Amino acid sequence: MLIKSADIIIIGGGLLGCATAYQLSKRTSCSIVLYERNDIASQATSRAACLLTRARTKPALMSLVQETYDCIAELSQLLNDSLGYTESGSITAVSELQSHVALDDLYVAATVFGLQASWIDGHQVKSKLPWMETSSVTKALYMPTDAYIDSAMLCNGYLTGAKQNGVGVTTRVGVTNILSHANQVTGVELSTGEIVHAPIVINATGAWINRMIYPQFAALATVPVRSHFWISESIPTIFPINQPFAILPDARAFTRPDVGGLIIGIREPECVAYDPSQWPDDIDDVDFSPDNGWSTLSQSVNLFEKYFPSIHDLRIAHYVAGPSCYTPDSMFIVGPLEPTAGLYVAGGCCGGGVAMSGGIGRMMSEIVLGETCFVDQSLFSPSRFVDVHPYSATLRKQCADARSNKKGG
Ligand SMILES: Cc1cc2nc3c(=O)[nH]c(=O)nc-3n(C[C@H](O)[C@H](O)[C@H](O)COP(=O)(O)OP(=O)(O)OC[C@H]3O[C@@H](n4cnc5c(N)ncnc54)[C@H](O)[C@@H]3O)c2cc1C
Repeated sequence: MLIKSADIIIIGGGLLGCATAYQLSKRTSCSIVLYERNDIASQATSRAACLLTRARTKPALMSLVQETYDCIAELSQLLNDSLGYTESGSITAVSELQSHVALDDLYVAATVFGLQASWIDGHQVKSKLPWMETSSVTKALYMPTDAYIDSAMLCNGYLTGAKQNGVGVTTRVGVTNILSHANQVTGVELSTGEIVHAPIVINATGAWINRMIYPQFAALATVPVRSHFWISESIPTIFPINQPFAILPDARAFTRPDVGGLIIGIREPECVAYDPSQWPDDIDDVDFSPDNGWSTLSQSVNLFEKYFPSIHDLRIAHYVAGPSCYTPDSMFIVGPLEPTAGLYVAGGCCGGGVAMSGGIGRMMSEIVLGETCFVDQSLFSPSRFVDVHPYSATLRKQCADARSNKKGG
């Protein structure tokens, strides 16, 4: 049999794997191959609401998002393709007094970082989002340069850029094993039975990230948590595509225009987390909700209806659900997987993998190539959690709570 080899193997053709392939290929002439067992962008990446929310209270996260915006500008020019990018702006509106402090903190962090942000009143919110009932809005932040994008197009954009730089891509072939000898990665075994030798392997397998490495190498503190949203019927006069997306922390909700309809995302007070050891290889085979999200919507809509009383008159056309891989501290997991030299992970996306993809790809590349990292990589270190039981109920609860308590977009 022909012996295959590469300098770097990337496992997973979602946003994190493809962004890493692109960022690596810009920085090195090493031979890089990427394996995806389904189709590119077919798993969590295909289900995203696609918000590219810039403002975060942690500067490192804003740097990661800024890098994604830079990649989008670069790829749009390179490929002569907008990638479905729409600079709609965003509005974060709150009603509860205790939410003012958090919004003030966000404003300070965003403006110190150099982002455009301004306070607007209820009338201004209403003029930008005419469908919204704003009488309870007591504070609102407008960020004109926020945008959303088509996540599958972005993922394919990264990959096209990577391929132009020489990255080899194989789809419909999975990695069944990561191989090592004496604490050094040596390559992977494929679902075809072939062995591919490589001194560096990057695990970017999303919801399956632990399945790839546990118990052989390590355990990561992340599990898939159900993320979901509903899309209304199309009424372009009410929901034009360039309307700002809205973040409503007091309703644990967000909205975004979508080709004439309105995407409505609502986080339940108790999110559903999964044991990934029991998962099929394709999320099309996961039953995220037996009733297409109806019972969840009716149980959690009470806080949202204050902002949109007419929701009960709106026809819901689609329900979209998928896995976001949360961590107990809501920070990503990016870095080397000690003690095995050459093994790296990029995951634990915490529902922000579209917005952070370019930044995570750059961070992963800089770590792998031994360059100085543009953000503090210790914040994302896989070893910051100890004594991890990846398939335990305790970890599922911690990760579900991280999503339930999320306030941003
Ligand atoms: C409903 C929903 C809404 C969201 N909204 C937003 C949003 O508005 N903004 C935002 O920033 N983020 C959002 N996200 C999060 C975002 O979608 C994810 O962070 C991102 O897609 C994660 O990318 P990934 O590459 O880690 O995972 P995936 O896209 O799942 O990719 C992992 C890939 O690895 C492959 N794979 C697994 N095992 C193997 C193997 N053994 N061999 C080969 N390949 C393998 C899988 O087939 C898969 O294609 C949302 C997510 C969901 C579900």
